[in-house]
Amino acid sequence: MPDLLTHFLIAFLFVKLRKIERYKSLIYLGTVLPDILVRLSVLSMDVILKIRGLNWFFMPLHTPLGILLTCFFATYFFEERSRKPVFINLMTGAFLHLFLDILQIHWVTEYYLFYPFSWEKFEIGLFWPHQSIYFIPVLALIAAVTIFFDKHAL
Ligand SMILES: [Zn+2]
Repeated sequence: MPDLLTHFLIAFLFVKLRKIERYKSLIYLGTVLPDILVRLSVLSMDVILKIRGLNWFFMPLHTPLGILLTCFFATYFFEERSRKPVFINLMTGAFLHLFLDILQIHWVTEYYLFYPFSWEKFEIGLFWPHQSIYFIPVLALIAAVTIFFDKHAL
């Protein structure tokens, strides 16, 4: 996975580029959701319950189907008339996340995009996980320039 800051900055630029205002915070939540779901689950099993080696159990939370179901259930925290845009924005963020993830080379875990229909692993492999850190200054600069021009627009 690229780091969460890279995921967030890409989502921020996406939101700015698409001029999305309504429920944009849910795109930001969606873009960190896959890693948070898996990491918090694994961490809580490891630290709180002292159960190790169950990473595979939470792996579906980082697949398109797992994300789809999670976003679907999350919409029930919102009133009925908001559920469709909430779902769309959460899914948009989550798919931005998964898209960035499949661009990287994986050391150990790879992505089962077609789970549960196939156990075929998939990655495009353009960069190593640590290399996403190199994008942060560039992305942050672009975001800062975008914010500056938003505030000083004529
Ligand atoms: Zn990820």
